[in-house]
Amino acid sequence: MSSPLDLFDLSGKAAIVTGASSGIGRHAARTLAAAGAKVAIAARRLDALVELERQIEALDGRALPLPLDVTDAASVADCVKAAETELGPISILVNNAGIADTKAALEVTGDDWDRVVDTNLKGAWLMAQAVAEHMTRLGHGGAIVNMASVLGLAGTGQVPAYCASKVGLVNLTRALAVEWARQGIRVNALAPGYIETEINRDFLNSAAGESLKKRVPLRRFGSPDDLDGALLLLASEAGRYITGSIITVDGGQTAAL
Ligand code: NAD
Repeated sequence: MSSPLDLFDLSGKAAIVTGASSGIGRHAARTLAAAGAKVAIAARRLDALVELERQIEALDGRALPLPLDVTDAASVADCVKAAETELGPISILVNNAGIADTKAALEVTGDDWDRVVDTNLKGAWLMAQAVAEHMTRLGHGGAIVNMASVLGLAGTGQVPAYCASKVGLVNLTRALAVEWARQGIRVNALAPGYIETEINRDFLNSAAGESLKKRVPLRRFGSPDDLDGALLLLASEAGRYITGSIITVDGGQTAAL
């Protein structure tokens, strides 16, 4: 007898995870591989992917390291083509690559703004467009999961370009979900709250971090594996009737006044 849990199985499916060399992306690639997917792990520096490839292959998974700069349309096209050639039809894209630039709004230069928005919003768009073109050409549909943020749902100081890019990504998610539903492509987003990774660990464990934690109803920061359930739901058949949704994974942070 088949179980409803079988719907989460990704065996035989091919996925691309952008920004897979660290933090949430690296963990998401391992999670998709653990669920059975063949995963193209993409990042700007291939040498940063060696350990992740080894970890996934140690679990009998298939990992394909690929160079990718999401801000460069030619690099995006090369990445999607190489993933298709090596892994077959791509049915999952996790648009995870992202950067933040913490600075007072009056100090942000045009270049600072462009770097953040080009990575977080235009980069996700270029990847989604390239993968959707591939899915449409092959006629098999698929699932796109955009890594947004609670800062795409509410604002805060010192990260204006980041907030703008993530709210843009939230509504891009909805727009593409509507347009591509007919092609069988579901487009959803995760909106994580504070997720502890190497780049923010020191800050989150500082006195300032402790006071932030008090504003999280579950009274702890998240870890990348707290995103696993929502990621697998959106990426798999278990989420087959979900599109255009933004799933908040934030310990209740945005529910609190
Ligand atoms: P991270 O810095 O560890 O990961 C970001 C990844 O994106 C890195 O691997 C980086 O190399 C890659 N990247 C940056 N620019 C790129 C480019 N031009 N082309 C290809 N790859 C590029 O940070 P993280 O915390 O793991 O963040 C991952 C995603 O999750 C980001 O989109 C971030 O905005 C989002 N997010 C993080 C948190 C959090 O608290 N950590 C909360 C909400 C949302």
